Amino acid sequence: MPELPEVETVRRGLQPVLEGQKLISVVVRRNNLRIPFPKDFAKKLTGKTVIYLTRRAKYLLMHIEGGDVVIVHLGMSGHMTILEKNIPKPGKHDHVDFCTSGNVVVRFCDPRRFGLMTLTTEKKLDTHKLIKDIGPDPLANNFNYIILAAALVGRKTPIKAALLDQRTIAGLGNIYASESLFRSGILPMRLAHSINIVEVEKLTKGIRDVLSEALEAGGSSFSDHVKPDGKLGYFQNNFKVYGKEAEICSVCLKAQIKKIRQSGRSTFYCPVCQT
Ligand SMILES: [Zn+2]
Repeated sequence: MPELPEVETVRRGLQPVLEGQKLISVVVRRNNLRIPFPKDFAKKLTGKTVIYLTRRAKYLLMHIEGGDVVIVHLGMSGHMTILEKNIPKPGKHDHVDFCTSGNVVVRFCDPRRFGLMTLTTEKKLDTHKLIKDIGPDPLANNFNYIILAAALVGRKTPIKAALLDQRTIAGLGNIYASESLFRSGILPMRLAHSINIVEVEKLTKGIRDVLSEALEAGGSSFSDHVKPDGKLGYFQNNFKVYGKEAEICSVCLKAQIKKIRQSGRSTFYCPVCQT
């Protein structure tokens, strides 16, 4: 599933071909993905210019001339591809094409259809039901350990689950939550409220470092995630615990990486490095 670095990679990849470009046509080949497309989705966007692209957690936002905002979520398997010349016929899972005045087609393909596209306006964006409860973005300049500490106060859930909760912190998924906890030396089953301030500071640094490094590497190419230019991200080569069960930890060189289930998701950790 794409996490924050993958969505940010997609946003950066699409910026040069969408920002400032007029949408000559928008082709929608189904009525719905995870949720139905709004009525007149294509009609509302056709002929309008994309002003800029932003991101909230794992939602990609296309800000459109006139005040509309397209909210896009890639779901489990969604990806955007930039097509320039010799545009191939759409395949079975190619659900949306954005055709621009720059003679580019941005094609959204989503085999499992857990993604979504919907519309709101600049005015209603902050109160939109998909957006309103999203917690602070760990890559924002003003994010710091005080903000994270405040979000963990009184939380009696395991820290891993708290990090996956998008109201605590935006955009962290299973992989980067495991990797951040490893880097900060915190066991994933510790209760969130038991993490002391020094540990929260380490965790904040762990989260920011792991996300920035992943971003630098163009995200991780697990499952279907591909950057919009068709190249693969390669951060998965830097995983220290995720998917490494039974391997010897590359930091302490002593323990085997353990894998457990936490609320239905796999968690990986080193029983020596993390306490
Ligand atoms: Zn270790």
